[in-house]
Amino acid sequence: MTTALTLKSLKKNYGSVSAVDGIDLSVKAGEFFTLLGPSGCGKSTLLRLIAGFEMASGGEILFDADSMTNVPAFKRNVGMVFQNYALFPHMTIAENVGFPLEVRNTPAQLIAEKVRRAMEIVQLVGYETRYPSELSGGQQQRVALARAIVFEPRLLLMDEPLGALDRNLRDHMKSEIKRIQRTLGVTVIYVTHDQDEALAMSDRVAVMRGGRFVQVADPVTLYRNPTASFVAKFVGDSNLLDGEVAEAGNRVRLRSGMWLDADAKGVPAGTPVHVLLRPEKLRISTESASKANSLTGTVAEATFLGESTAYAVETDGARILVRYQDRDAPSFAVGQEVIVGWEPKDALVISKAH
Ligand code: ADP
Ligand code: MG
Repeated sequence: MTTALTLKSLKKNYGSVSAVDGIDLSVKAGEFFTLLGPSGCGKSTLLRLIAGFEMASGGEILFDADSMTNVPAFKRNVGMVFQNYALFPHMTIAENVGFPLEVRNTPAQLIAEKVRRAMEIVQLVGYETRYPSELSGGQQQRVALARAIVFEPRLLLMDEPLGALDRNLRDHMKSEIKRIQRTLGVTVIYVTHDQDEALAMSDRVAVMRGGRFVQVADPVTLYRNPTASFVAKFVGDSNLLDGEVAEAGNRVRLRSGMWLDADAKGVPAGTPVHVLLRPEKLRISTESASKANSLTGTVAEATFLGESTAYAVETDGARILVRYQDRDAPSFAVGQEVIVGWEPKDALVISKAH
């Protein structure tokens, strides 16, 4: 596998703000790589550095083995899709899609062929002579996508491309973007603050905070083995219990004074930790099988979600979220005393040092 994109100690400062704070990364050719993080963490800045719209304050960017440091944006050959589509309103759809080829002085005949092919890929054949204002938001985003792929870019960069679409359309466009990416085999760098998009679409995800990568992993690893509490909170629903590793390394004492069995392998005794319990790994009952891995509490909320019920259970020291697969209707009522239990293997110890 060849490396399509390499970043070495990449930095971008705006005055005293480190928007991108020393990032190292290799992305394989054909990979779907996502930058995930809250607003202001530096996702768009990193994407703009890769595109060449911004000059780095330090570090290096390579496409394959080629340094991009002195290559201007228009010569980097990257396709870009933005949240707001950025189509030219006075041009027809075909003219919009053909525009990147026009500016590259491509012969008219070839432009026509490539535009037709791109329109087929995004499934917009028949819309060539319309104007952007005559298309729905989802269709306009397809046009933007066609325009970004029509010149066979080395990289396809997307900055929150589904942000302006309503939920149903977003779900549909998620699978559409994946289908197009697989069809073309193009390397994608995708930016989102939406964990569902990141998990559903990506080969790998970088969770960002304050201009840095907190964790880079495939979606399953990110969800099952977050290495930092920030990642556990940002990816999926989570319960994080405060505590510290007790002696022997496989027990944790919570701040409330309770003891839990949890695999704290490799984390020294005395280390402040979070214990991560995913809501869907928890059981609710009215009697306890084992006191060691359970918390007693009172049901504070019961929200029926159709295929499951979301319970909030108020325990000593923490409100615990539980996803419970009820058969037909919620089994536990607000105000009821219950016991929340779990398997020790489902209690993940995360050091607070990270
Ligand atoms: P994200 O896309 O993750 O929301 P951005 O990359 O847009 O984050 O911004 C990262 C940080 O850099 C923020 O603190 C933002 O205010 C700052 N920033 C972004 N662009 C500029 C700019 N052109 N001038 C000054 N500060 C900027
Ligand atoms: Mg942004």
